[in-house]
Amino acid sequence: MVAPRVSAALLRRQGAGYGPLALMYHAVERMRGTPRWRWSVSLERFRQHLDLLQEAGYRTLRVADLDGSVDQCGPCVLITFDDGYADNYAAFQELSRRGMVGTWFVVTRAIGGHADWLEDQGERRALLTAEQLREMAAAGMEVGAHGRRHLRLAALPPEELRSEVRGSREDLENLLSRPVTSFAYPYGSHDDAAVAAVSEAGYTAACTVRPGWIRPDGRQPLALPRLEIGPGVGSGELARMLTLGTSDGSWLALGRYFGRRLTARFTGR
Ligand SMILES: [Zn+2]
Repeated sequence: MVAPRVSAALLRRQGAGYGPLALMYHAVERMRGTPRWRWSVSLERFRQHLDLLQEAGYRTLRVADLDGSVDQCGPCVLITFDDGYADNYAAFQELSRRGMVGTWFVVTRAIGGHADWLEDQGERRALLTAEQLREMAAAGMEVGAHGRRHLRLAALPPEELRSEVRGSREDLENLLSRPVTSFAYPYGSHDDAAVAAVSEAGYTAACTVRPGWIRPDGRQPLALPRLEIGPGVGSGELARMLTLGTSDGSWLALGRYFGRRLTARFTGR
């Protein structure tokens, strides 16, 4: 297997450059081939991603582990899962087996049920149960909040906004009997009022769906970037995404990046 080794070597050279990166997964399906749903990866592919990260010497962090000291962490990555699909239990076991950690953002009023916000797409997907989430938290995984009902927070009336943000934290703290400090905005939707609500509810970190590096100085903790992992992202593409800090892991994007670096070297800019 030459390709993963080349990818890992590339990452070892480039990966630690700027700060941590967060990856965003949704469903992880036990199947052959590539899932048809744009928010799924196969379990097999997820395992290949973890192989790559381990081979390149990456450490995993939970979102709650982010503080002013992340610049000390060397190459590190945050593996996050939105919505809490039932099939993620296998991904949890896979991380656990390897001594790696991840963060799950769950929709608190739908725990143990199904994702009713997907019904208009004709999808019916089961969600992790309270018992599974407790087991995952006890095994060192982080469970954060993703609202009560998976609503877009931007422009939501104040009372509903408060219920989604503060309410989901309360639901989860009651369920897990431990502090909940991380939030992910459903659909990435947030405005100033949503960020203020997240801050007032006592969260110390919140994830968006915008790509980019997490600032090692700990600034902008309530608008953390993440890289979206789609069904077709193989290890090579993941390595390029981690090198570039973007969701575009194409060879063209990598070529442009090295082109810019070469230009900078010759022009001194
Ligand atoms: Zn979501």
